[in-house]
Amino acid sequence: MAVERTLAILKPDCVRKNLQGEVIARIQKAGFKILGMKQMRLTTETAGAFYAVHRGRPFYDELVKFMSSGRCVPIALEKENAVADFRTLIGATDPKEAAEGTIRKLYADSKGENIVHGSDSVENGKIEVAFFFSESELV
Ligand code: UDP
Ligand code: MG
Repeated sequence: MAVERTLAILKPDCVRKNLQGEVIARIQKAGFKILGMKQMRLTTETAGAFYAVHRGRPFYDELVKFMSSGRCVPIALEKENAVADFRTLIGATDPKEAAEGTIRKLYADSKGENIVHGSDSVENGKIEVAFFFSESELV
């Protein structure tokens, strides 16, 4: 298996609930290496650009509003098979459908406010890490 990079974002609901430490601990216990991590508040423009693939979907405006509603924590992660393994760790988009023990099942309230983002392909992992981090910030 190849070493991959994937992007996590601890979403504003995660920060509001003070769950950053618990979620990061689960990520570390699952064997991910943190290459970069920062806290920021996304503008609606930045949130809209990050989720541009969903533009036009019924949930898009609400998603952009939510993602820019408070502080979030983008995290660049590295591991063998990182993209698929991180999706397994976080669980399905809707916490009601997420497997037991997954981060979304444990902590998320709804399909919209679901605690954490994870890249969905190896290619998007690279693109999304580069969206938030310059190479010099990845150590
Ligand atoms: N989302 C939503 N309603 C939906 C689908 C998605 O509010 O019906 C939000 C949710 O926050 C999700 C994000 O939009 O995490 C991106 O959607 P995607 O289908 O890419 O889910 P993910 O990859 O995050 O599991
Ligand atoms: Mg997605």
